[in-house]
Amino acid sequence: MPSNIVIAIDGPAGAGKSTVAALVAKKLGLKILDTGAMYRCVALKAIRIEANSEMHLGSLAESARIEFQPGEPQRVILDGEDVTEQIRTLQVGKRASEVSVFPSVRGAMVKRQRKLVESGGCVLEGRDVTTVVAPDAGVKIFLTASIEERARRRWLENKAETLQAVVKDVVERDHRDYTRKDSPLTLSDDAVIIESFGLTPEQVADKITKLAKGK
Ligand code: C5P
Repeated sequence: MPSNIVIAIDGPAGAGKSTVAALVAKKLGLKILDTGAMYRCVALKAIRIEANSEMHLGSLAESARIEFQPGEPQRVILDGEDVTEQIRTLQVGKRASEVSVFPSVRGAMVKRQRKLVESGGCVLEGRDVTTVVAPDAGVKIFLTASIEERARRRWLENKAETLQAVVKDVVERDHRDYTRKDSPLTLSDDAVIIESFGLTPEQVADKITKLAKGK
């Protein structure tokens, strides 16, 4: 396996990408790039300053300082403030899915994400990483599970909302992710599909690690 290998994992909300990416990165000694966290940062900023127009959101995406710092979970720093927990609410997730439909927001994010994976040695996860951000990744995975299973997992992680509210959120986010005009969530021809139902995150990470080691 080359030390600068890039492993790209796409999939719908709640498929378990973040947990699996962290495990794979740890096993193989690679960096992690959580692209969803970057959209969540833009969303948090948009909520705080009530930015709604595409122009405003685009410039906000360009100017936001987003950094990652080591930790378990990895810390997310927005304009110098640790927002790791704040960006995980249902409200921020929903807003992230709304702001991420705008080409100006996506353009700003993709440009930064490509820079961050330029040097390789990275596991990245999101909705367009196998198709747009890192189409030449050495290992490409599409991680998925049924809507019911994904909603159930999200709810178990954070019971602040009712299961019904989480199901509704996952259905809406799927719809937006699969149907937006700019880089919708799609299955890349050369991606390996992993259905995570009935598998632990460790088992999924093992499958991906084996694929990487075979390179
Ligand atoms: O993966 P996560 O739930 O943190 O992502 C938040 C939202 O950001 C997603 O619902 C999706 O709409 C958007 N996103 C995206 N492209 C990515 C990563 C996330 O559009 N590469």
